[in-house]
Amino acid sequence: MSVDVAAYTSLKKELEATGATLVAVSKTKPLEDIRELYDLGQRDFGENYVQELVEKQAQLPPDIRWHFIGHLQSNKVKYIAPFVHLIHGVDSEKLLREVSKGARKAGRSIDVLLQVHIAREETKFGFDAAELDALLGQPEVTALPGVRLRGLMGMASFSPDPAIVRSEFKTLAELFRKGAARIPDFNTLSMGMSADYRIALEEGSTIVRVGSLLFGSRN
Ligand SMILES: *Cc1c(COP(=O)(O)O)cnc(C)c1O
Repeated sequence: MSVDVAAYTSLKKELEATGATLVAVSKTKPLEDIRELYDLGQRDFGENYVQELVEKQAQLPPDIRWHFIGHLQSNKVKYIAPFVHLIHGVDSEKLLREVSKGARKAGRSIDVLLQVHIAREETKFGFDAAELDALLGQPEVTALPGVRLRGLMGMASFSPDPAIVRSEFKTLAELFRKGAARIPDFNTLSMGMSADYRIALEEGSTIVRVGSLLFGSRN
């Protein structure tokens, strides 16, 4: 199939030294590809469309930890609330409240990361530094029942200049450290994709989200 086993093996080895978690981003990829990595021991997978995630989750082993890494609409929280392992892209207080509601209905607690806008592109979602600071300063919001704020997630610019990517990751890592000083459960920093995961690891990432390097490019 199209899984690059050699790339997976060497990436796992590389990550071992850092202790970071690999989320294999399987969006648009078939069940067989996910099963192939699962059989090699991979358990963390990332998807960014709710319907696709729900369909895949129903057909794959129950011990997979599913990460939702896309832009989540408030009205779709209920579909993933019963099983999602970590929601990476919470980008508004409204969505955070909706996750709280969904978690309570599902009778569980859900781990979330707040998405921070660090890239130059306008299209990327997330809080800016001031909005993040304001949100983390509201105990009523940070202690919503059913949600655990575990940390931050961000995407760097699509830039060929590694210095730009690094400085954006540095910014995010600094915000993460400040957040960790205020929020007891903050221990997770999701940054780095196929093109920039090495820089992200050097800047303190604890979760990399890697797709095309493992599964080949998406159409
Ligand atoms: C698709 C996607 C990834 C993986 O991207 P690759 O370049 O294929 O590694 C990581 N994070 C998010 C949020 C994504 O949407």
